[in-house]
Amino acid sequence: MAERAVVKIDKQKAKDRVKVIWPILKKTYPQAKCALEHGNPLELLIATILSAQCTDVRVNIVTKTLFKKYKSAKDWADAPLGQIEQDIKSTGFYHNKALNIKKACQKIISDFKGKVPEMMDELLSLNGVGRKTANVVLGNAFGVQGIVCDTHVLRLSRRLRLSANTNDAVKLEFDLMEIVPKKNWTLFSHLLVFHGRNICQARKPDCGNCPIAKYCPAANKPELW
Ligand code: SF4
Repeated sequence: MAERAVVKIDKQKAKDRVKVIWPILKKTYPQAKCALEHGNPLELLIATILSAQCTDVRVNIVTKTLFKKYKSAKDWADAPLGQIEQDIKSTGFYHNKALNIKKACQKIISDFKGKVPEMMDELLSLNGVGRKTANVVLGNAFGVQGIVCDTHVLRLSRRLRLSANTNDAVKLEFDLMEIVPKKNWTLFSHLLVFHGRNICQARKPDCGNCPIAKYCPAANKPELW
């Protein structure tokens, strides 16, 4: 695949673009929220670890029975690794995921009194937890604003010219933090994910039916997709 040209971003223009697309996306996707079903922070943490390279729909199918079996960090920490692997197998990459879940839960017990920690640096100390997973948990289980840069957010940020760092989730997260008001960080990511799933899909964005096409530099320009 040909290398993409280096993109120059005018930060003020990107900020103005966020301002104008925000109400439109909010109105278009009033249902936008975390798609991973969970009843508490631990369940969300596990579901997010399982969602790597797997669809949210598949994770929700698996966790429906999984969370009846494993109810606490201790249940995961005490379970034989092979058993966890079997139980999560259909989400893919199950050797790594099972090991990460077991070790993360052991640490939650030893260092955090059995409760999922609420601080970014503490979450990052758990096995299998990077900034993306930590932001999902902080934003959706603890109400702490955070921007989650998944594949949709990377792609839409590139098409909407919101950042020059759309190949690097961590750099993109910090760029978006500068142009999106903090109170909107969590919902802004959900809105981009919903828009990416519904209209601005990877292979064939439906620019003709896109409610923010008027403000999108990549509208009907395949060379900018
Ligand atoms: S106009 Fe096209 S490229 Fe831009 S956000 Fe809408 S669907 Fe995506």
